[in-house]
Amino acid sequence: MKKRKKEQEECGTHHWIPLLGSDKKKTVPTSLFTCLGCGDLKVGTQTIKISRYRLDMGELPINSVAGIKLMNPPSADNSASGLIITATVDTNDQGIGAPLYMASNGNLSTASATSNATSPCVALAVDAGAGAKRILLHGVLRADAWNWTIGPGDSGLIYVSTATGALSQVQPSGTDEVIQPIGWALSADAMYFAPSILYLTHV
Ligand SMILES: [Zn+2]
Repeated sequence: MKKRKKEQEECGTHHWIPLLGSDKKKTVPTSLFTCLGCGDLKVGTQTIKISRYRLDMGELPINSVAGIKLMNPPSADNSASGLIITATVDTNDQGIGAPLYMASNGNLSTASATSNATSPCVALAVDAGAGAKRILLHGVLRADAWNWTIGPGDSGLIYVSTATGALSQVQPSGTDEVIQPIGWALSADAMYFAPSILYLTHV
């Protein structure tokens, strides 16, 4: 048997052996494997892996010391990660990334900061067009058409625009216009969407 590894020490090359079970009085290998070097466990070859400090489900680790990584960040243009559901979208001519508000019929439509009749924004469109569409309730969206400014204070914040279905980094300033921060720029092309439930109506 190989020498046992210290706690949290990574194993260079695992030496997997199947754990044994018994079936009709015969000893048979099971699909549960353990590493002789470090003691990690895995089920099958591509499924769930358990070490003494980490639980891996595919590429998504639940790590006892570094938190829980639920989703990979979006790596492609016009993609999102986070809390995504499917809902009925009545209007969306602006496409992916458009801010959506909930109308009195319970469906979503493109938001505008012109007044609180078309606000607050509760979701971002993950799909283009109308119908049963994916919407982002909370998370990260990447759209390479964006060109956000990042920075502290008001500079990195993103608001609903007075142009229907658009976002802006400039606070609306007209009478009755809605000021609702809905997230902040992570980079020129990505925003963290965490819409404020509190919004102000400009006097
Ligand atoms: Zn190992």
